[in-house]
Amino acid sequence: MSFQVRVLGCGEAFDGSGLGNTSFLLESKRHPSLLVDCGYQVPERLWRNNRHQKLDAVCFTHLHGDHALGIVPLLTRFWEEKRTRSLDMIGPRGTEKWISSALQLGYPGMLKKLPFDLHFRVLEANRPLELQLGTSEIRMQGARTTHSVLNHAIRFELPQGRSFSVSGDGQITSDVCRLVSGVDLHFQECFWRKPRAPSHADLVTLRAAWQGEWGATAPRSIVLTHVSRYERAGLTRDWAKLTKVDPRWKLAEPDQVYRLGGASRKNSSNR
Ligand SMILES: [Zn+2]
Ligand SMILES: [Zn+2]
Repeated sequence: MSFQVRVLGCGEAFDGSGLGNTSFLLESKRHPSLLVDCGYQVPERLWRNNRHQKLDAVCFTHLHGDHALGIVPLLTRFWEEKRTRSLDMIGPRGTEKWISSALQLGYPGMLKKLPFDLHFRVLEANRPLELQLGTSEIRMQGARTTHSVLNHAIRFELPQGRSFSVSGDGQITSDVCRLVSGVDLHFQECFWRKPRAPSHADLVTLRAAWQGEWGATAPRSIVLTHVSRYERAGLTRDWAKLTKVDPRWKLAEPDQVYRLGGASRKNSSNR
């Protein structure tokens, strides 16, 4: 069974350069898909190739608009298309209330009109969840970052020992480092080049965590994403130098596809 992770978007909250809000799609030929985060710029990227139709689960690292507000148009289009398959919704505590309120604001009465069930599940730090995706069982585990709202970095364990993780927003913690230790592929928010504000990660701190003595427990690949629009040029230069000496460090771009269990990586032509 081969899974891949598609970068739907890799921008920050208010970036106008076409990167899209940071969001990832776990997909495979024979299985339904799982979406990790759904900001307001994400649904259009799913609709473009009808990728939304394979979705069976949506996970939220946290409930900021650039990670969750896209759920309103996504659910409403499912209503329009008369979807009948239920949809799993996994997020931090408060997710059900937040999504119900957002949907009610956007399209009053829509929640009751949906012709399919929403199965809400709460992700708590250090309390693993199991999720059935088609015939595959996926294990999820979260660890808190330091962010302005409750945010979990989430690790996904897939069949055949494959794994990936998504940081969401926020500075890494020792719990996050433990969570992502040895993971095949880790998508990491890197808002700043250097430490600036406690609620976002930066490249200096990340390098200190995952190089040198920590290197043995680092993720096998670290893909930087959600870079501040004011820092992207400088951070891209920093990353270009870094990846020459340590190719585990990568920089996300929209429509990159990372195959799990193999080293290959490509940019899709379907932009
Ligand atoms: Zn964000
Ligand atoms: Zn945030």
